[in-house]
Amino acid sequence: MIYLDNNATTKPDPRVVEAMLPSLREAYGNAASRSHPFGWAAEEAVETARGRVAALIGADPREIVWTSGATESDNLALKGVAEAYADRGDHLVTAATEHKAVLDAARHLERQGKRVTILPVDKFGVVDLDALRDSLTERTVLVSVMLANNEVGTLAPLAEISRLCREHGILFHTDATQGVGKVPVDVEALGVDLMSFTAHKMYGPKGVGALYVRRRNPRVRLTAQMDGGGHERGMRSGTLNVPGIVGFGAAAELCRQEMARDAAHTCRLRDRLHEGIQSGLDGVALNGHPTERLPNTLNLRFEDVEADALLLGMPQVALSSGSACTSASVEPSHVLRALGLTDAQARSSLRFSLGRFTTEEEIDRVAERVVHEAARLRRLAPERVLTA
Ligand SMILES: *Cc1c(COP(=O)(O)O)cnc(C)c1O
Repeated sequence: MIYLDNNATTKPDPRVVEAMLPSLREAYGNAASRSHPFGWAAEEAVETARGRVAALIGADPREIVWTSGATESDNLALKGVAEAYADRGDHLVTAATEHKAVLDAARHLERQGKRVTILPVDKFGVVDLDALRDSLTERTVLVSVMLANNEVGTLAPLAEISRLCREHGILFHTDATQGVGKVPVDVEALGVDLMSFTAHKMYGPKGVGALYVRRRNPRVRLTAQMDGGGHERGMRSGTLNVPGIVGFGAAAELCRQEMARDAAHTCRLRDRLHEGIQSGLDGVALNGHPTERLPNTLNLRFEDVEADALLLGMPQVALSSGSACTSASVEPSHVLRALGLTDAQARSSLRFSLGRFTTEEEIDRVAERVVHEAARLRRLAPERVLTA
């Protein structure tokens, strides 16, 4: 099998797995236990990881809140801010191409009486800055725009968005799940107030994530969405997932050291894949931004070819048509629709997402398989060319 679905999840780096083993075996203490060495060791491991994760994004360790993943971080950011700032306003702004964790959290708040603006994007998936400017009101408390899109990889102009938010005294959250570990992310340079990300998209384990919460200029308030023992300075109760957090810390440290190499590697192979497919096949178009894009992501549209049929013809290649998070449903991707694609075009699109462990040999085999299968499918149904 060839794994090209790294935007859905990554293989845990063997060095991450190794780092986690002690806390699964003998160092199994509860990080909140203050009365014995088991607890102290666990707390120390958690704080080491907190420092590593904070260092990767240019944050203070005290600004990192552990969660169960980016879905929880997104929910905590949107709902936590909406509740904490209810006295100041009732309006949130986000974009059409956001992950469902953001869009559905916003929809939930809308049902509770908040007002939500969903911004359009251009054909590359870049949010409309004029529409954003026009949407801001006295009652706006939060803007949430993702750093990099999970389906097409388009990067957002976050520094410009955060400047607009600052000018209006509005908090800015970004779902940076696909960016952290792949491209340099610095919370100060980007001017973000809250930021979601997760370990399993950067060679760490599943079930552990983080929410960055700014502590000064401004100090962000957040209403906890999980009540309990008051862990994580009251923002997120629950016994910490120590092995997961240790793995997250190890993954963050590896990304900090190897990100430039990983990015150059995936970018070179991604462009090789693109060229290999395009040189062997007509009617292939790129979805997403040609340059302002994640180094590992290639989303292609194959004229007159059903992406799912293409996948069936390449059982040895693991990749996604549409978003992995919604591929259980038959609906065409909301992201591709927001970029202006028709249902048929969305259904003709495949996402190739490469990673640290992808090899050149794999890429050459996939390019060959895609060209062969797409050409075969077109020969089988030539009449579709006429009706498309
Ligand atoms: C994967 C992903 C999520 C969800 O992360 P989990 O840790 O699986 O909950 C949220 N946002 C984006 C952009 C993602 O790619």
